[in-house]
Amino acid sequence: MKKPFFGLTRPKLAYSGIDDTGPDIQEIPVPERIFFSRQIKKGEGPTISRGQEVRTGQRLRPLEDMRVCVTATATGVIGDVSVETDYSGRTTLSMSIETEPKDRWDPEFEQAGISAQSEDVLSYLSALPGISDLIPLVRRENPLDTILVSGFDRDLLTATNQLSLKTGAGNLARGIEIMKQMTGVNRVMVAAPPSLASEAERGGVEVRIQNPLYPGADPRLLVRSILGTTVLPSRPLTDVNVGVVSAEGVIAMGRAFQDQRPPVSKLLTVIGKDNRPVAVRARIGTPVGHLLNTLHIEVSGGDRLVLGGPMAGKGIYSVDVPVGPDTDAVMVQDKDHVIPPSSEPCINCGECVRACPARVPVNMLIRLLENGLFEEAAQQYDLLSCIECGLCSYVCMMRIPIFHYIMLGKHELALSGYLEESHG
Ligand code: SF4
Ligand code: SF4
Repeated sequence: MKKPFFGLTRPKLAYSGIDDTGPDIQEIPVPERIFFSRQIKKGEGPTISRGQEVRTGQRLRPLEDMRVCVTATATGVIGDVSVETDYSGRTTLSMSIETEPKDRWDPEFEQAGISAQSEDVLSYLSALPGISDLIPLVRRENPLDTILVSGFDRDLLTATNQLSLKTGAGNLARGIEIMKQMTGVNRVMVAAPPSLASEAERGGVEVRIQNPLYPGADPRLLVRSILGTTVLPSRPLTDVNVGVVSAEGVIAMGRAFQDQRPPVSKLLTVIGKDNRPVAVRARIGTPVGHLLNTLHIEVSGGDRLVLGGPMAGKGIYSVDVPVGPDTDAVMVQDKDHVIPPSSEPCINCGECVRACPARVPVNMLIRLLENGLFEEAAQQYDLLSCIECGLCSYVCMMRIPIFHYIMLGKHELALSGYLEESHG
């Protein structure tokens, strides 16, 4: 990828297509240990304990007061279970399964005769591969107007969602029908790139073919370009009665009802040190280190490990971090290719302002963020309008870690309660 040298226009960054990964999907063997980590409200009444046997696809409610369940993605015994509250007051449930090599499937989903309208369908399918939380889309009393099924990937070098659509289009129509029954939404549309037009049309619904440049596949930008609807960036899309879901999630839903088993695996793109993307399928909860070992990608001191793609991915600090339902990519950057951030001051060149799709005055914003003035940054310079695309950092010739400051600012505002206070 090249930056514009005299950047009087936005950088034109094309998304990757499935031709970059190739059509093959490498299966990652089940690791010896699978990990789950979920933020919870409270931590009362543990219902599972170390040594308890679990089967693949089993619905677990590790704490009595948990609203949603966790699906065991392998057969084995429960290892560690812990509930911890960190310095900022957030409580996290963590647990592991010591796996057996062979799956024994739990029959509950099939025996319970779960349908899209079952009362407890969401306790089995609240999180799907590619959809980390389905619950906000299910408003049975007051359904959303439209659900947009996106066949795009949100970051560069990533082809996870496109490959799901390419290889799983046979389950798209079933998944859309179930999604309609579950949510009560009548209007469902599929948005896809030109290369996947025929797969998108297999859903039997309205299809919109687009060829956006980065970050045009961001859900908010897709909704704006396809439906002409804009929502305040700090508010969820459901405020304007719209939901955006990934094609991967909808296809996984269709497959779950066809096979009568909840989904336990995730498709993802692994981007190695040579920047070559590879498509793999792994059990949800697989540690990143196991993925990399299987693909013979070594990580050594100084390399950068990223969950997500090169523009908007988040750095992680351990190979034990598990693949989650919404992990679309894992990237390893060689230490020799990591561009270190600088502490040089902003020269007010305006590149970041020209690049920003949300029209944030980034050059002014960064001055407040660097000084820890987060509330002022939100009130005066639109911090909360940022859609987290990372373009400002990408174009900054002074290598100021703008995106890091933005994420820090948003994190601090969330901790301080500012977001609830300002938006109710
Ligand atoms: S990360 Fe935010 S501020 Fe930076 S260019 Fe993207 S939308 Fe604008
Ligand atoms: S933050 Fe970087 S890109 Fe933005 S005005 Fe300053 S030097 Fe230029």
